[in-house]
This record gives sequence, C-alpha cells and structure tokens, in this order.
Amino acid sequence: MFTQQSVCNLRVMLPQPPWTKSFNWNLHITLDGEERIPFHLLRIEAAKLFWADPNTYYLVESHWLLEGGYPGGTCYDLPFLAHVQNVEVEYQHGSDNRIGPLHDGIRDIRQDVVRNFWNTLKKRFPRVRRAVINQNWESLSDKDYNKPAFPCLKILVESCPLKIDVSAFVLEEASSLPENTTITLPTNKWQRSLYRPTLDGEWRKVAPCFNRKTILMPMKRFHGPVGEFEKLRYLRNRLALQHFALGPLVIEALDRHHFDEGRQEPFLCPESGCNAYFEKAGQWTMHAIETHNVPSIKEKRFDILPNKLRDAFERHESDLERKREEVAGESRRMFNEWNEEGGEKRRDIERGWMDQLENEEAWDTGTEARESELWKFFTMVMNPTWCGQ
Ligand SMILES: [Zn+2]
Repeated sequence: MFTQQSVCNLRVMLPQPPWTKSFNWNLHITLDGEERIPFHLLRIEAAKLFWADPNTYYLVESHWLLEGGYPGGTCYDLPFLAHVQNVEVEYQHGSDNRIGPLHDGIRDIRQDVVRNFWNTLKKRFPRVRRAVINQNWESLSDKDYNKPAFPCLKILVESCPLKIDVSAFVLEEASSLPENTTITLPTNKWQRSLYRPTLDGEWRKVAPCFNRKTILMPMKRFHGPVGEFEKLRYLRNRLALQHFALGPLVIEALDRHHFDEGRQEPFLCPESGCNAYFEKAGQWTMHAIETHNVPSIKEKRFDILPNKLRDAFERHESDLERKREEVAGESRRMFNEWNEEGGEKRRDIERGWMDQLENEEAWDTGTEARESELWKFFTMVMNPTWCGQ
C-alpha cells in the first residue's frame, strides 16, 4: 500500500501535460512514490550519458555505507561505482539509531560512525562530486519542537568532506498547501525540501523541491549458490517496483486517453460517488493522486479504463505475474533441495556457500562465513517454519 507521504512524491513524479515522452510501461516506483530508473533503461532513454549530469543521481543505501560498504552487502556491480559522480543516499529507517543511538532520550552522536560513513562513500565512489542524502520518512524528533529537526541527518551532512557538494532532501510538514489543491486531506500535509549546509554552519532550505533522475546501478554477476539466491532477492525487488507502478500508470493512461495528442475530451471522475469533472489535461491526474488513493484504483483492476487500454494493462500485468512466478518457482526449487530427505543436497549446498563466502571477495561482508548476514538470511528463509514461506 502506498504511504501517506507518497502523495507529495507522486505529485512531482507523475508526468504532467504536455506529455512529451511516450507512455512508460517500464516505470519503477517505490511505495513512497519515488521513481527509480534501472540503468539499462536509462541508456535506451538517453542517447548520451553524462556521469556529471547534475540531474542524474545513482542510488545507494545508507545501511550498506554504515556497515562499511562490503562487496557482499550489495548487489551492485562495484567497478561501476568508480565512475559515478552524483550519489543519492537513501537514508533508511534505523540510520538515526546507528549515527546517534538514544540513551535516556538523548542522542549520543557517534562521530566514528559518521566518519566511517564518508570514508566508505569516498572509497566506493572515488569520483564523487555531489551527494544528496534522501530521507523520505518522518523524523520523529520533528514532532518535538524543543529538539532540532533531523539531528542525525544534519550531523551527517555537516560532516561531509569539503570537496563533496552535499545536500539533504527531506520530508517535512507542508508550510502551505500545494497550488491548485481544492481538498485538504491528511495526505496533503507533507512536502519535500532540499537543504544545504552553509559556510557559517547553518543548514538552509535551498529549494522547495528537487527534481532529479534516480538511477538503479547495474547488478553484479550472480554466480554459484550465493549468487543464485541473491539474484532472486534482487529480481523480486525489481518486479515489486514495477508492480507498484501499475496504479500511477493507470492514472496517467486515462488522462492521456482523453487529452493527449490534441484530443479534448472532458470526462467525469470514474470513481463511484465522485462528481469531479475534468476539462483540461492533467486535472484528473492531480485529482486522482490527491483525492482518491492510488491503491484503490489499482485494486479495481483497471475497470476505470476504456477497453483497449484495459486489455493492454491486463497483458502487462500478466507479464509481470509470469516473471514473478518464475522467481517464485526458482525459490521453491531451492527450498525443496535444501529440505530434501537425507540431507545430501543440503550438505552440497552448504559446502558451496561456505566456499564462496570464505574465498570470493564479491561476497565478503567483513565477517566469518557462518556469521555472514547472507548466510543467516539464507538459512532463515530455507527453514520451513519461517513465516515468509
Ligand atoms: Zn474523483
């Protein structure tokens, strides 16, 4: 289900008229309404690729950097990272507690953790010039006005090495409602803002928004039993991002059906009980995002679309389902082998895992093989009592 803050992200993310690009069946978005562009699609989209393009950022997760950036902790192709100049760090839940663990309600800022974070980032991205730390969730200390907002994120940003141009992209309560909003919903209370540290140690809002392309870097080569397992995890995540995009795509498709390519066909809101009437391109898109939640549109299985579009969406969805079933089938095969009677296959698999974890740099997580998070996660998932089965 889309989160409440997804509304402020979707408002920016969904294409607005005039639609200059063709309809993007390959849209990937998160449940927070942020677009992710797989690298291979970027190459198709843009003839020229500029590493230094100031609006193109390559995504990396904060946990990976906070854990030391070991090769085994990521599915990205590490040699690729060496080219990247603009890094977007997804500041994940739990990062605050790594940087400033709470002791009796007071944050004890770990300068060593902050230093390691930047050292790891510089090591993995030796050409980095710009970094944006993206916190797309509500900072709890935000609620308590006696405390500064984003205490850990702020310290992280302020500790950035001088030669990196750093900013923080945060989620905060809206100071005013967005333009053209007619209805006030709880979902409208959020906005995204870009902050930068200034030379006098302040932290200043520089933009009410931040439009950029966020690229998913290419995956590493998956081989051996560890690679086979990790590849499934990676594919599952990618397919989920495409699945989440179905609702927003339905919204865009309907708007374009009535108003794209010179058409002027006003229409009534297709949601039952709603009397909104759309006379201009883009009105329905904003209305659907802000007034009707996107998931309900998706759950009605494309019923609000004209026949031809509905068929296209059904084909697209079954294509995604088929890919998902392939991944699930592969997972089941692994599970069955691991749990086969006699345990002979299990011993083989375990030997293969240990061999890779002990000897291959690609799967190094900085720990002993048996202590590796990769191994712990694998054995947890393979256990028949695991609730995810
Ligand atoms: Zn409506």
